[in-house]
Amino acid sequence: MKLTVGMFKHETNTFSPVPTRWEDFGPGGPLFGDAAYKALRHSGYGLSGLLEVAEEMGAEIAVPIAARALPSAPVEREAFERLSDILCHAALSCDAMLLDLHGAMVAEGVEDGEGELLARIRRVRPGLPIGVSLDSHANLSDLFIANCTVMTSYRTYPHTDMPATGRMAARLLRDVLEGRLDPITVVRRCPMLPDMVKCITDSEPMSLLIEAAAKAERDGMPCVTVFTGFPLADTADTGLCVLATSNGDPAGAAAVAQEIVDLAWSLRDRFTTPTIEPLADSIERAAAIGAGDGEGPVILADMSDNCHSGGTMDSMAVVAAALDRGLDGILAGPICDPEAVARMIEAGVGASITIDVGGKRPIPALREPLQPVQLTGTVRSIALGRFTVEGPIFTGMPVDLGRWAVLETGRLTLLVSEARVEALDPLQYRMFGLEPTRFRYVVLKSKTNHRPTFLPLARANVECQGPGVATLDLHALDFRHVRRPIFPLDRSNA
Ligand SMILES: [Zn+2]
Repeated sequence: MKLTVGMFKHETNTFSPVPTRWEDFGPGGPLFGDAAYKALRHSGYGLSGLLEVAEEMGAEIAVPIAARALPSAPVEREAFERLSDILCHAALSCDAMLLDLHGAMVAEGVEDGEGELLARIRRVRPGLPIGVSLDSHANLSDLFIANCTVMTSYRTYPHTDMPATGRMAARLLRDVLEGRLDPITVVRRCPMLPDMVKCITDSEPMSLLIEAAAKAERDGMPCVTVFTGFPLADTADTGLCVLATSNGDPAGAAAVAQEIVDLAWSLRDRFTTPTIEPLADSIERAAAIGAGDGEGPVILADMSDNCHSGGTMDSMAVVAAALDRGLDGILAGPICDPEAVARMIEAGVGASITIDVGGKRPIPALREPLQPVQLTGTVRSIALGRFTVEGPIFTGMPVDLGRWAVLETGRLTLLVSEARVEALDPLQYRMFGLEPTRFRYVVLKSKTNHRPTFLPLARANVECQGPGVATLDLHALDFRHVRRPIFPLDRSNA
């Protein structure tokens, strides 16, 4: 048995101005062959689980490519074509394929990236058995579903079960190859763009959908998956859907998928945030908690500008609001601003400097541009930053921060970087000798990914919403492609 196992992952934020080029599928571009196998076999990705089961099967394994880029604008067409060609070519010489995909990829001129990829693979190898491990923020098209054999996604958000998802996808395909499973998959769609933070799986309402899917599996349906969708990819298929894969039972699969979609629709008001708290009110809440008793810092999570949702990571809005409110003892960043980093390096460690930080990248999708903030302080340190994620999300992932510098203004200690880095691990501060527990406030960029590693250190988590293309306020963005009506954009008639 020859198995091709590959990875091509991108979550596209169609509102983001951050380009997605071939070299962004890294760090340092995609990995190939043995290098990909060795780097990711024991990683925190779905690919690791796919490889584990492929080994159990005693298969002859080829890993043609492993490519993953941070969420950003549609993939440049040339990069999409090259990456797709590599997988199509690899499909010619195998008996089956296992793929780790995201499911919400858009390329330039290709709205349904993964559907197009799978259709091309099936064009060169009609009927090839394909098992796919996906992110639960996938926007799955009918083309996608028609062109693979089995598929499933993470059951946790924040995503702490990526390798387990890979194992499940691979085991389903093994069951097909060994004649135990006749997979009939049915999709049911819900006209809803759920608020991403309401999709945290260990609390309601999302836990109710996860439990309903798990119960259907316990009752004998081989695979039932809830995809919440990625609302910042403006495509026809964006939105929540449920997939049920039966063993030769289309009616049974349809009933299960419909039941869970009906449940989701009945909970729609709980999947949205009726009013977005003004940033000044969030800062006021943080100030009150910070002034009281308690251990550890107050986390101010900037949810509108995190790079794992396609954010530019250069919004200074939360930092500026915290300073305006008079907060003290603030650790913040990283803010992605290569120009400011260069200025600080030029000035040197120990130098006093006045610089504009953030708000420099034009963002056409935002109605108001981000604003830089002028700061005066001392350059405390400069470094080339690299570390490996130790937290439970993307465990083992190498992070390349580019050049970093730390600016100290008195009330604020600010990290400024050349690269975009999500707050996955306190190592992003500790590697600079900055201990987050010694600060009263920590301003970081994340919706939920910081929770497993930062919340145990913190006295409170205050969710803040400033401007940014990773916003939860969908009314702030101009949707053109998503099927209408859809909740909550069209509240009355969806
Ligand atoms: Zn996701």
